[in-house]
Amino acid sequence: PVMLGVLGGGQLGRMFVHAAQALGYETVVLDPDRHSPAGRISHHFIEADYRDADALRELAARAAAITTEFENVPAEALAELARARPVAPAAGAVAIAQDRIREKAHFARCAERSGVAPAPYAVIESEADLADVPADLLPGILKTARLGYDGKGQARVATRGELAAAWRGMGGVACVLEQLLPLALECSVIVARGRDGQVVALPVQRNLHRGGILSVTEVYEGNVPRALASQAQAATVDIANQLGYVGVLCVEYFVLQDGRLVVNEMAPRPHNSGHYTVDACDASQFDLQVRTLAGLPLPQPRQHSAAIMLNLLGDLWFDAAGAPRTVPWPDVLALPGAHLHLYGKTEARRGRKMGHLTFTGPDAASVRERALAAAALLGIEAF
Ligand code: ATP
Ligand code: MG
Ligand code: MG
Repeated sequence: PVMLGVLGGGQLGRMFVHAAQALGYETVVLDPDRHSPAGRISHHFIEADYRDADALRELAARAAAITTEFENVPAEALAELARARPVAPAAGAVAIAQDRIREKAHFARCAERSGVAPAPYAVIESEADLADVPADLLPGILKTARLGYDGKGQARVATRGELAAAWRGMGGVACVLEQLLPLALECSVIVARGRDGQVVALPVQRNLHRGGILSVTEVYEGNVPRALASQAQAATVDIANQLGYVGVLCVEYFVLQDGRLVVNEMAPRPHNSGHYTVDACDASQFDLQVRTLAGLPLPQPRQHSAAIMLNLLGDLWFDAAGAPRTVPWPDVLALPGAHLHLYGKTEARRGRKMGHLTFTGPDAASVRERALAAAALLGIEAF
């Protein structure tokens, strides 16, 4: 059997493994932790750091093609693997997505065609840059250029004094300062692009974040005004095309209170906001990842059900006093259209993504009713 390789053993890798195995592929996962969500279900496993040269050689020797599942995979490791095997996404695209400065520059170039620009921003790499910050970027959000996720590596700043203190507090690393925008809603679009340049776009996902972490994704007709949805899909296709991207790419957007669409950031991989596709579409984002990696055809996916996804964070495993509690899964699974996905993580921690729960149904009203019922059972705030 043909073997597909994945760098990283988290939940995204686990769902990639599910999709690859369903198509008859064998899988090999490289991760430091054998008991990681993907590590524990893959046919084959290489227990090593992502930079371990011998382990990377072994991965390239065993896998026919290789993908990645987490954002901060060393781009050099992908470049090294690409000398031996097809790798998607490519190191160059991942390196741009890993650096907010390069990412925003790419978005700004694409905006000349698509009209969808990033938030006004400035690069901060020195004390001199701090002094040059235009006054209209405050209040703003300071974000480290590299390694931030789930709102980590960010600080909201209202004044130049706060900005300087926050930048120094981050150790003076390269950052971007973005204008704090008045958001009406957040959404994201996932596209898959093949080696031949063929590209398909999934429906626009409407996202609710809490505490910097994705909490709820709603996908059904009318979740986002239609014109904005088309504009976001077209902008995402353009961003992927201009990168010469191969694989699955997710781009996050803001819709402002004045109705304008703004591009926020991209993830060079399947995305948490796309998990509903497993249960609500005839091809999931992970099926698309397998197809782009294996060079298989990419027919346009169709969403067959309205969907709402609730993220299941480790907080649910504790009561208000912080004591462990039994989560009432049987009650949740009694609700029609419930699809429970748990990632097999051995330890629940606050803020840790343990699983997700998708409701599918014929229309928005029915999935909302059931998702709200589940949220009440689980202790997730209503939306
Ligand atoms: P992820 O886990 O999605 O990778 P991240 O840590 O990279 O998140 P961002 O997506 O840049 O961070 O920002 C996190 C959240 O903060 C956004 O989803 C949005 O709610 C809010 N936010 C970020 N930038 C702005 C902005 N310029 N104006 C208003 N709100 C913002
Ligand atoms: Mg991010
Ligand atoms: Mg984000």
